[in-house]
Amino acid sequence: MTKEDLIQALIKDGYLKTPAIIEAFQKIDRKDFVPEEHKERAYVNEALPIGYGQTTSQPLVVAFMLELLQLNPGEKVLEIGTGSGWKTALLAQLGGIVFSMERIEELQKMADKNIQNYGFIENGSVKLLSGDGSKGYPEGASFDKIIAAAAADVLPEAWKGQLNIGGRMVAPVGESILVLEKISKNKFKTKEYFGFSFVPLIRS
Ligand code: SAH
Repeated sequence: MTKEDLIQALIKDGYLKTPAIIEAFQKIDRKDFVPEEHKERAYVNEALPIGYGQTTSQPLVVAFMLELLQLNPGEKVLEIGTGSGWKTALLAQLGGIVFSMERIEELQKMADKNIQNYGFIENGSVKLLSGDGSKGYPEGASFDKIIAAAAADVLPEAWKGQLNIGGRMVAPVGESILVLEKISKNKFKTKEYFGFSFVPLIRS
């Protein structure tokens, strides 16, 4: 399986649609983000271990979530769960100003190295932050978009508060992916897509 085989399969199955997202999948090579021992499986449509009990998300899930997020160039986006940094780099490639939080220091270091290969740290497109993202990132709020890679049991209130009116959030809760559109300060339009599996969001 090559990178292009994976991308074509994701297009055929309806997960990848938007030209800019397809181009980002072509430019940001998943192989650069998976550990050495799993590189030969980088283009297989499955989650892969990245150490510390965590995984880099399944490509179809990343494609699905990025399509739902509708990120526009120049928008500020908060990502919770940097992991390998693969999705972080995709968000930057799409033109986002990305604030990405990770609670496991070693993974953050790995992501930092991976993302540096693409120049997104140096040019200010990506800021990597350490700590518990379940409280969001009040110092950097508010955000146009919020995306999470770890599943909460209940959606953190802090994330809702740190989203701009008109903004969108894509976050796993239990076995679902929720999409929230912020209509006004306390009003959200929610859609739920059931049938996914994520590592848990750890709250400190
Ligand atoms: N998209 C990433 C997926 C990483 S898995 C990738 O493709 O590599 C989810 C990540 O969320 C893990 O690295 C885990 O350590 C992190 N995580 C879990 N709970 C967290 C929290 N409360 N704050 C920040 N990161 C968290």
